Amino acid sequence: MREFLTSLSLLARAVAHSLERHPRRVMAGVGTLLLGTGVTAFGIAPLAPDAADLPVTRVIESLAIEPMVPADLTAAVPFNLFRSDTVRRDDTAQSLLQRLGVRDSAALAFLRDDALSRQLFSGRAGKLVTVETDDQHQLLRLTARWLPDDERSFNRLVLERSSQGMSSRLEAGQLTPSTRLASGEIRSSLFAATDAANLPDGVAVQLAEIFASDIDFRRDLRAGDRFSVVYETLSADGEVLRAGRVLSASFVNNGERHEAIWFEDPGQKGAYYGFDGQSARKAFLASPLAFTRVSSGYGMRVHPVSGKQKRHLGTDYAAPTGAPVRTIGDGVVSFAGWQNGYGNTIEIQHSKEQVTKFAHLSRIDVQKGQRLAQGEQIGAVGSTGLSTGPHLHLEFKVAGIHQDPQEMARRSENVALNPALRARFDALALVQRQQLDAATTLQQASAD
Ligand SMILES: [Zn+2]
Repeated sequence: MREFLTSLSLLARAVAHSLERHPRRVMAGVGTLLLGTGVTAFGIAPLAPDAADLPVTRVIESLAIEPMVPADLTAAVPFNLFRSDTVRRDDTAQSLLQRLGVRDSAALAFLRDDALSRQLFSGRAGKLVTVETDDQHQLLRLTARWLPDDERSFNRLVLERSSQGMSSRLEAGQLTPSTRLASGEIRSSLFAATDAANLPDGVAVQLAEIFASDIDFRRDLRAGDRFSVVYETLSADGEVLRAGRVLSASFVNNGERHEAIWFEDPGQKGAYYGFDGQSARKAFLASPLAFTRVSSGYGMRVHPVSGKQKRHLGTDYAAPTGAPVRTIGDGVVSFAGWQNGYGNTIEIQHSKEQVTKFAHLSRIDVQKGQRLAQGEQIGAVGSTGLSTGPHLHLEFKVAGIHQDPQEMARRSENVALNPALRARFDALALVQRQQLDAATTLQQASAD
C-alpha cells in the first residue's frame, strides 16, 4: 500500500507538471488514470494556490467515488470522462460539445431545441460548463454555472440523461465567499505568471495597480520576480465564478520587496497601505499607461521618431494606438491641443514647479483648466506629430528642467495613515501578515 501511495504521488506530480503545459488535453487523461487506480484519497487543499494543483482539484471534484480497483483490472472497468470548459462568444451547441469531447447526436439535438439550454449561448460568454460522458463519448450529464445580474446567487443549468431520455432544469445556487492565497514567479510576463497560478485577470490587474507607484509593470519586471496575494472570491459549487478585492499582496521586484494591505475605515473610502501604515500610493504613478493584458504584450522598441535624432528629453512608451493614457498625479490641465512636432499634446501642472507633458496622442479627453485626480484618463496613445509609430512621449519638468518620470514617482511622498486608526490597522495587519506569509510558504514548498 505504501508503494502504491508513493507511485500515486509520483503520478500526481507528473500529471501536475504536464498540466502546466497541456491543461485540457491532460484533463481527460487524468480522469482515466484516477478512475483506473481508484484514487479517492487524493487530498488536495481546496485553497491550494500551487499553479499545477488547481486543475487537478477540478477533476477530483467531479469524480463519483469509485471503489478501489487494482491497477491490473483497469482495462476491464468501464469509465466515465469528465471535462470542463467555458462557453465562448461564438459558440454553438455543436462547437461546445465538440470541444468538450462529446460525440452524441441526441444530446446535440436536445441542446439545440431545449429552451432552458439556449440560455447557455445567450448573455455573457464565459459560463463554466462541465460534462460527464461514458467511454463512448455519450453525454450523461452537463452542468453549467454562471452569474446572473444580481450576483448574489448563481444559475446552475443541469442536463441529464435518464432511461426516459434527456431532461434539463435551471436552479439558483448560493454563492460562497472565501479567501484565496496564491503566489507565483515571473518568467516572461506578469500575465504568464498569474495564468500559471490560476489567478483571474482581475487580480493581476489589481496587483499592478496596487504597486503602481513603485513598479512600472510594463518595463520593470525581471525574471525571478515573485508575488504572493490574498484575495476574495465568490464560488459556485466549489468553482470560483468571480474574484473580488485583493486583501493583501507582496511583490519582490528586482530583489526589492513591496507589500500592501487593504484597509477600510467604516464610512470612509478604503485604500492600500504598507505594513508600516504608509499609503501604498504616492503623489505620482510609475507609469502613465494602465497595465492591461493587451498593452502588456507590447514590447519596448527603439524611439520611433523619423529623421535626425534630436537630443531626446522625455520617456517613450511603446503602446498600441488607442491605449488609454492617464495622469500620473493630481493636477490641472494647463494645455490641451496641437503642438508642432508633438502632435496632440496635454500638459498638466501638478504643483507650482512640476509639469508633465503627454505627446503624439490620438485623442484628447480633457480641456484646459480641468482639475484631475491621479489615474484619471486624459486621452489615448497615437502617432500624431513627428512620430512614425504609435507611442506615448512623456516629459516631467521640475522648474523647467527635465526629470526621469519614474524616478520622480519613486521619490514622491507617501500619505500616512490617520493616527487615530492605528490600533485597528495594526490588528488587521497582523492577520494579513500571517495569510501573506502562508501564501509565500506555499510557493516555496511548490518550488522544492
Ligand atoms: Zn519621445
